[in-house]
Amino acid sequence: MKTNNKLGTAVVTGASSGLGKVFAERLAKKGYDLKLVARREEKLVELAEQLTSKYGVTVTNLVADLGAPADLERVATNIQNDENITILINNAGTSTLAPSTQTSVAKQKEMIDVNITSLMLLSNAVLPGFIARNEGTLINIGSVLGAFTLPISSVYSGTKGFVVQYTRGLQEEVKGTNIKVQLVNPSITATEIWEVGGVPLSALDQAAIMTTEDCVDAALAGLAAGELATFPSVHNQELIDAYEDARIKLFTGSQTGKPAERYLQN
Ligand code: NAP
Repeated sequence: MKTNNKLGTAVVTGASSGLGKVFAERLAKKGYDLKLVARREEKLVELAEQLTSKYGVTVTNLVADLGAPADLERVATNIQNDENITILINNAGTSTLAPSTQTSVAKQKEMIDVNITSLMLLSNAVLPGFIARNEGTLINIGSVLGAFTLPISSVYSGTKGFVVQYTRGLQEEVKGTNIKVQLVNPSITATEIWEVGGVPLSALDQAAIMTTEDCVDAALAGLAAGELATFPSVHNQELIDAYEDARIKLFTGSQTGKPAERYLQN
C-alpha cells in the first residue's frame, strides 16, 4: 500500500550500530520513513523510538540475522513487496580480522553470507521495483579493503572485492535510467566492527580513524554530487581518478588474444 510520504521509505541494514545508525538518523532527518534491519532488537527499538519522536517519521524494524537464509528471505520478500521503498542502503557487514588459517570456517562463511549473499539478494529484491518505477537509490557499503588485502583480511577483503565489482556491474546495468547506484568505500571508521573483529580501535593509528558522522555525511555528499564511487577519507581526487583510469586501461590491454612476449620463452 502506498504511504503519503513523498520521499518514500529508506531501508538501512545494520542500523543497530555504527554507520547504519547514522545513515538512519540522517535519512529520518530528511523525512524518509525507515525500515531498519539488524539482529539486536533492543537497539533497533531504541533507535526507532528516538527517530519517530524527533522527526515524526514512520520506522519499522525488521529484526533478522542476514546470515540466516530464512531471515534473509523474509527481509527480501518484505522489501520486494513494498512499493514505497526509494532507498536501500546495504550497510550490514561483519569482519573477523585474523589469518584465514586461524579463522573458523563458520566465521569465514558468516562474512560471505552477510557481506556478499545478503547484499546481493537484497539488491535483487529492490532493483526490479526501481527499474519498473524508473527511480530509486541503492547504496552498497564496500571498503578500501575491497581493493587491498592485509594478512589478516583475506576473507573480509575478498567479500568487499565482491561488493566493489558487483556494484560497478549494477551501475552499468542501470546506466541511462534514473536509478542511482553508489559504492561507498570507507577506510577506518570508529565503530564496533573492529572490536567484534578482534582488533581494538586503540591498536590503530588514531589519526587514521574517522568518526561515523563524518563518514556518513561524506557518503551522502558524494551521492548528492552524483558520484559512482565515494571514498570518504581520500583527499586527493587524482588518486581516485588514476585508479579508475588504470583499471580500465588494464582491462583494455588484456584484450589481445595472444600471450605477452615475456611468456614466450623458446
Ligand atoms: P558495526 O558498528 O559493527 O555495524 C555493523 C552492523 O551490521 C550492525 O548494525 C550489526 O547489527 C549488523 N550486522 C552484522 N551482522 C549481521 C547479521 N548477521 N544480520 C544482520 N545484521 C548484521 O560496523 P560498521 O563499521 O558500522 O559497519 C557498517 C559497514 O561498513 C560494514 O559493511 C563494514 O564492512 C563497512 N566498513 C566499515 C569500516 C570501519 O572501519 N568501521 C571500514 C570500511 C567498511 P547486529 O549486530 O545488531 O545484527
